[in-house]
Amino acid sequence: MEWPVVDSVQFAKQHAVVRCSVPVSEFKRLVQVVHEERGNFDISLEGFEDSEGSYCLRLHVDGFMTVTCQRCLEPLALQITSDRDFVLVEREQDLMQLGDEVDDIESLLVDQKLDVLGLAEDEIMLQMPMAPVHGENKCERPRWSGDVHNENSAFSVLSVLENAKDR
Ligand SMILES: [Zn+2]
Repeated sequence: MEWPVVDSVQFAKQHAVVRCSVPVSEFKRLVQVVHEERGNFDISLEGFEDSEGSYCLRLHVDGFMTVTCQRCLEPLALQITSDRDFVLVEREQDLMQLGDEVDDIESLLVDQKLDVLGLAEDEIMLQMPMAPVHGENKCERPRWSGDVHNENSAFSVLSVLENAKDR
């Protein structure tokens, strides 16, 4: 399957639209952080011009992936839905500084070969919580990790093993 690559300025000028439905396994970076490859994202990219005539892109991602719950370490289906507008800029120095960004508008360098999947993947990674967990009271820490904060626990397990071996 060939995923869309677009000339961003032409795309905006022509008010073009691409839509695709992409399995998680196709995202090179995402696939490294998921619990398993189950999941799918619907992506759409739309070109337009804003009220000042600047070329813009509107990205929409909607889908889910399966991550590891940071409480129970079991699989967790993480739903991500996001919309973001980009205004295309010609030069690197025109990229907005972090903090200058208004609402959900970002600046993006013009690219004759814009990788739509890569752009969507950036957005998905941005929306991922640092420590995803199931809902409140929906799961528990596995028992064996109960004293994970006890620095001695690893050593006491080791010494138990040592003792067992000596018997
Ligand atoms: Zn959980």
